[in-house]
Amino acid sequence: AFMPDDIKEKIHNHPCYSEGAHHHYARIHVAVAPACNIQCNYCNRKYDCSNESRPGVTSERLSPEEAAKKVLLVGGEVQRMSVLGIAGPGDALANPGKTFETFGLVRQFAPDLKLCLSTNGLELATYIDEMVEHNIDHITVTINSVDESGEIGSQIYPWIFYNNKRIYGKEAAQILLERQLEGMKKCVEKGILIKANSVLIPGINDKHLPEVSKKLKEIGVFLHNIMPILSEPEFGTRFALDGVPSATDQQQMEVQEACGMDMKLMQHCRQCRADAVGLIGEDRGAEFTKDTFAGLS
Ligand code: SF4
Ligand code: SF4
Repeated sequence: AFMPDDIKEKIHNHPCYSEGAHHHYARIHVAVAPACNIQCNYCNRKYDCSNESRPGVTSERLSPEEAAKKVLLVGGEVQRMSVLGIAGPGDALANPGKTFETFGLVRQFAPDLKLCLSTNGLELATYIDEMVEHNIDHITVTINSVDESGEIGSQIYPWIFYNNKRIYGKEAAQILLERQLEGMKKCVEKGILIKANSVLIPGINDKHLPEVSKKLKEIGVFLHNIMPILSEPEFGTRFALDGVPSATDQQQMEVQEACGMDMKLMQHCRQCRADAVGLIGEDRGAEFTKDTFAGLS
């Protein structure tokens, strides 16, 4: 595979990236980031960000202090907790105060925990210094198009909120793409590992995803995941209402092949709700609700 040794070294005990590690090391997500700064047509804001989650799932919102307590409690109960991730329920970097306050609090008692966040990338470049300061070493960016005209992106994102303005259409898609690329490049320069997710949306970006993959490799993104869109009418997303179908396993396999992906590395970080706890594929999030750590101080 294309993975250099220094990256292999960094991910060997990361449950989300390493086949060997995902049976042994656990991760925890804390849902401290409710707001989002873009609109995706596959998102239903009532539920978690589809970056990492099944639609239809809602996570219990936590303050940074509650989140720190949860990490403390879970760290005592779940074996070999190695990663703390902030993956929504909105966008980690649309809630920078809460996100970095949480990381700062947790650092004080769990200095060895790897920190990770997932984002749509709009504000990635803005917070590069904070990420370095908090020693974030893994970032997941959801990027669905690298089409500079904004034609494809504008079918996926009706608007973004940027520089205190709501921006629509192709212009919004162009800005989002520029900002994603700039942010990812900066992360690579700073040695922060970047993984990318793309949502496979049949009829919209399916043919285009190999180009996305190529661009990501050029930038130095170490792993690209294809997430098949889940688009059932009951999710109430724009795409579902417009009749865009869910992606099939067959479509996913074809696209992964067209993108030249290393299947062994592909399968781990998925369907991961914003308050997930435990090994990948296992979710003990429901055991650790606010009630279970309300008494901690
Ligand atoms: Fe929803 Fe996530 Fe898209 Fe924001 S980035 S609109 S939370 S799917
Ligand atoms: Fe980070 Fe994704 Fe792993 Fe969660 S599942 S810890 S967001 S890489």
